[in-house]
Amino acid sequence: MWIEVLRSEIENARKKIRLKGRRTKEGKRERKEEKIVCRWCGSRKVVKNGKKKDGRQNYLCRECGRQMVENPKYKRMREEDLELAVKMKDEGMSYSAIARVLGYSETTIRMHLLKKTLRTP
Ligand SMILES: [Zn+2]
Repeated sequence: MWIEVLRSEIENARKKIRLKGRRTKEGKRERKEEKIVCRWCGSRKVVKNGKKKDGRQNYLCRECGRQMVENPKYKRMREEDLELAVKMKDEGMSYSAIARVLGYSETTIRMHLLKKTLRTP
């Protein structure tokens, strides 16, 4: 009897591990896809196209033919953080204060907010 219990315990543990593994795999794939979306036209048909002199990966969009370079200098900002940053700026907070509160560098905040205001005039 106790063997049956043990077996089901083991089976449950295995299921959990399998689920966990699948979830992280999917998460990784999503992140990868997100990374190579064309910043000009939004297409996912982006291929690697050599590297820049400073070692950053260069990408070429098969859809619109434009090139882009990955930018590891700036930490990617989550969309909700960006919304928050915009609100904070509207409330009159300084870039450095927003950076401290959200945990990004001041340069990242400046760059993203500038982009955001350029996108929505
Ligand atoms: Zn494109």
